[in-house]
Amino acid sequence: MMTLIINIVSMLRKGNAMTDKPTVLITGASTGIGAAYAERFARRGHDLVLVARNTARMEALADRLRRDTGVTIDIVAADLVDPAERAVVEARLRDDARIGILINNAGASLAGTFLDQTADDIDRLVALNTTALVRLAHAVAPRLAQAGEGAIVNIGSVVGLAPEFGMPVYGATKSFVLHLSQALSLQLASQGVYVQAVLPAATRTEIWGHAGVDVDTLSGVMEVDDRVDAALVGFDRREIVTIPPLHDGGQWTDFEAARQAMIPGFAQSRPADHYLASA
Ligand code: NAP
Repeated sequence: MMTLIINIVSMLRKGNAMTDKPTVLITGASTGIGAAYAERFARRGHDLVLVARNTARMEALADRLRRDTGVTIDIVAADLVDPAERAVVEARLRDDARIGILINNAGASLAGTFLDQTADDIDRLVALNTTALVRLAHAVAPRLAQAGEGAIVNIGSVVGLAPEFGMPVYGATKSFVLHLSQALSLQLASQGVYVQAVLPAATRTEIWGHAGVDVDTLSGVMEVDDRVDAALVGFDRREIVTIPPLHDGGQWTDFEAARQAMIPGFAQSRPADHYLASA
């Protein structure tokens, strides 16, 4: 009898999930890549929760999208570096059962070299690009796993694959995003939760100006709409890692194969011959 009741509840839940599109919570939604995600998901008929610091910009975006698409849009003004303000977003992700997709997009870069940057600026960057991102994922993941469906999209960067670009702290935060996403995918996919890492390269947004770089001096800059449309093709295909500018997708496949080929060799009780003192 108990099994029957559980099955009926489960069927009702699934039926409800199929008719209702999940609400999408997007961080860094006041401009740039996050605002473009908001536009795309609103046009797909998803209700939204927009998170950033600049309320006026989010209100303007929300007014336009409500008018154009009819979806419901809530705004949460929060500095994700501030633990108390971030906690409000974490609570929303934990408690609001309508939210089925998290777009972990808010991020920043830093001007100058490692020697120019202050420890406090580095601390804020790490807090935004890594601590906030992982805390928000951690807030929502148990509920999605319990529901057996949902998605977490983490915005990384190709800089996380390229120390040669000369952005050590920013690049390290984006390596964190890639590793976290791949590892979470391995843990959560079997529970129905899709995790995607998106690795953009240079995109025409305000992030460059904030880091003291004139984006018009760069080559190979992608427009934000193209960037997000490509990322959403990867999302719809349920790709784990999406690199919109990489024309030769086989390079990523080869890179992953080379990395995975090393793994069986890590379990060794003695050092490699070339590390023996006698060598
Ligand atoms: P952007 O135009 O500067 O937008 C950044 C967004 O994050 C804004 O909505 C900003 O809103 C929000 N934000 C910044 N600090 C915040 C904080 N402390 N608390 C809450 N929200 C905060 O940058 P973007 O280019 O769209 O970047 C989006 C993501 O893409 C980032 O993770 C970035 O690292 C990544 N990415 C960008 C590029 C590129 O070339 N543009 C390339 C690779 C990866 P408020 O100021 O209103 O808070």
